[in-house]
This record gives sequence, C-alpha cells and structure tokens, in this order.
Amino acid sequence: MLVKSEGIVLREVKFEETNKILTIFSRKYGKITAMAKGALRPRSPLIASSQVFSYSDYNFYKGKSFYHVNQGDIIDSFYPIREDMNRLLYGAYLLELVDSSTVEEVPSEKLFELLKKGLKVLSSLNKDFLKFIIGFEIKYISFLGYRPYLNKCVLCGEDINDTLKFSISHGGVICERCFKLDPGSKKMDKHMLNYLKQLLYTSLDELDNIKIPKDVMIKIQDIMVKYILTNIEKNKFNSLDFMESIKKNGGL
Ligand SMILES: [Zn+2]
Repeated sequence: MLVKSEGIVLREVKFEETNKILTIFSRKYGKITAMAKGALRPRSPLIASSQVFSYSDYNFYKGKSFYHVNQGDIIDSFYPIREDMNRLLYGAYLLELVDSSTVEEVPSEKLFELLKKGLKVLSSLNKDFLKFIIGFEIKYISFLGYRPYLNKCVLCGEDINDTLKFSISHGGVICERCFKLDPGSKKMDKHMLNYLKQLLYTSLDELDNIKIPKDVMIKIQDIMVKYILTNIEKNKFNSLDFMESIKKNGGL
C-alpha cells in the first residue's frame, strides 16, 4: 500500500552496506520504522531526507513489518542545528524525548506540530537553551496527557500560598498541609511556580519576554525531567547524560 505523510527523522541506524533504518515521527501515522534503501549510496535521492532532524514530505510503501521510503522531498533540514554544539545536544534531547515517549502508529498532530516548531526555533537559538527546553518539555508532557496541575493543591484542592512543593507522583503542586502525604515531593516556591506557568502558556518563539535566573531554571529543569521520566516510565535520557559528561569535562 502506498501512503504519504510529512515526517521528521528521529533516529537512523545503518543497515547492511547501503541502507538505513529510520525512526520517523510522521504527521499522519505517528512514529514509524522505515527502511531507506540505498540511502547511504553517494548519489542516493534519499540522502537529505534520511538524515536525523530532517523534515520531509515522504512517499512510503507500507510493507508487512515496516514502511519503505520510496521518496522524500525535503521541507526543512534544520541544518543550523548541526552547526552549533548546544543546538545539536539539545536537539538530540528533543528527538530522544519524542522517540522514548511515543508508541508506533499512534498519530498526534499536536505533538508533531510542537516538535516541528521546537526544531525551527532551536535552529536559530543562540542563548537561553535551558529556558527553551523547559518551555518545550512542559508543553510536550501536557500534550502527551500529563499536564501538571498548577493552579491549586493537586491533593486537597485548596489554594496554594507561599509554601508549596511539587509532587511528581501526583502530578502537580501541593500545599503545606499535604506535604506529609508525599514525602518525596520536590521543593518549589511561588516564583518557580509562576515561571512554570509562563513557560506552559508562552509560545516557543516568544520566550524572550520571560526572564528567569539561571539557578532557578536548573531547579525547574531537574523537576521537569524527573516528572517526564516518571510519566513515560523511563530511567534516564541518554542525551542529557551525554550533555552532563561534556559539561563536566569543560566542553560547554
Ligand atoms: Zn493540599
């Protein structure tokens, strides 16, 4: 069966001498596995559309066990992501986040649009990477169905005053009276909560208007990553571990 869809390459693996097996997040079919036959040949018409990050219009043949890429017309290669170490590392994390939190053949227009926009914004980003990443994460996890409850205490429904924590297991902020119900909850304050709300409701290309101190961002990012990992039932992100190891060695 021949099918068409836009898609973004999340992962590529060399297969035999000249082929690639691609993991593509497609608009119409969700995440799919697709064979790009001959993509490693020097003159293959699939060279550009079979690269990680590439956003293309694909024609697939849907076989029994996976898809075959017949044709790929590139829409945006997001090439500038490869030209900068920060963009590349954070970009790899966006792709890993999508890859590790989606199952095959479950389409989501919202997640597709968010990833597309995320890569577009990242392509021209030169600073405030962490703010961008948290903005992406909180939208992403919300679209995935785990939007954190930020308006009132997620456990008792009371208003939140100045003393609060974030409960990863219950998915939202909790008030002081409820601290004892989740001993593992994370320290948070009113400022962090307000930043989190702003990042949730502000478009990725308008984040410049939000100013967040770096130490606060690191704390928020720590909570967000744990929150995401818990909800998608994973232990870690390889791309973030890799980033940490580079930072420790003075590379960033
Ligand atoms: Zn409460």
